[in-house]
Amino acid sequence: MNYLKILEEITLELKSYTTVGQVTNTIPELAKINPDKFGIHLTTIEGDDFGIGDSQERFSIQSVSKALTVALAFSFLGEKIWKRVGVEPSGTAFNSLIQLEYEKGIPRNPFINAGAIVIADMLVSCLENPKEDFLRFIRLISGNPNIDFNLSVAQSEKDTRFRNAALGNFLKSFGNIENDVDEVLDFYFHQCSIEMNCVELANAFFFFANEGKTRDGKSILTTSQVKRLNAIMQTCGFYDESGEFTYKVGLPGKSGIGGGIVALYPKNFVVATWSPKLNKKGNSELGMHALELLTTKTEMSIF
Ligand code: GLN
Repeated sequence: MNYLKILEEITLELKSYTTVGQVTNTIPELAKINPDKFGIHLTTIEGDDFGIGDSQERFSIQSVSKALTVALAFSFLGEKIWKRVGVEPSGTAFNSLIQLEYEKGIPRNPFINAGAIVIADMLVSCLENPKEDFLRFIRLISGNPNIDFNLSVAQSEKDTRFRNAALGNFLKSFGNIENDVDEVLDFYFHQCSIEMNCVELANAFFFFANEGKTRDGKSILTTSQVKRLNAIMQTCGFYDESGEFTYKVGLPGKSGIGGGIVALYPKNFVVATWSPKLNKKGNSELGMHALELLTTKTEMSIF
């Protein structure tokens, strides 16, 4: 498969695609990003790399981090994490409060904000130095010791935290947050502020495609555990657009409001895209389209 040629074709086709999306306005610091950035990087399971455009420029991974926090919590706590967060699609926006009331504080899945805040609480409980330890985990799985938080982005999100603070407090009122809400939110804002480029993201997600082992062979999760997390990425990774992503792309993946998407074909490849303009559901408009073109041209989708 000539992946580089396919990525070049995709980039060319995207140039004539008219976008209607907007850069996020929920985190002021992120509203400054150049909307016209575009990068894509694909890493095969054999270890070949193909990248194009702004694939080496770092951006805020935001909710893409939720797949990595749930992986770390799953590795520590196993199946019992599902007592406090579900594995069902929510059909609601990523930052919605609506289901929490009638489902008594158990978020539908770990990829909506409510679920990710519960996962953050689990990590605050079981890590000695939560922020440092999580960063160490990201550096380990990506094989890159330079990955870091962007403290201005974390602060900017803290300054405008009203909805996430509401979710955190609401969860606490149901007894589904063990720690101090502000401490949990501080961890959550830092995890979201991590900056990586498409190459680094493809490396970090390699273990999801490689039966739980990183690119350099470290064991992170069991084959069964990555199968389960890939299943949740497939059904919930794009919030109330997960069905659409499955229909158009046919791969498990996770998006973030920084404009990043990571998708993977188990035992075949990991691909990361970055384009900051988001559609109404908060997913990268061009990133989704690029991945739709990728699986159409390569005929490599899990379906
Ligand atoms: N930090 C963002 C928030 O909590 C992440 C949202 C996202 O990327 N979808 O609102």
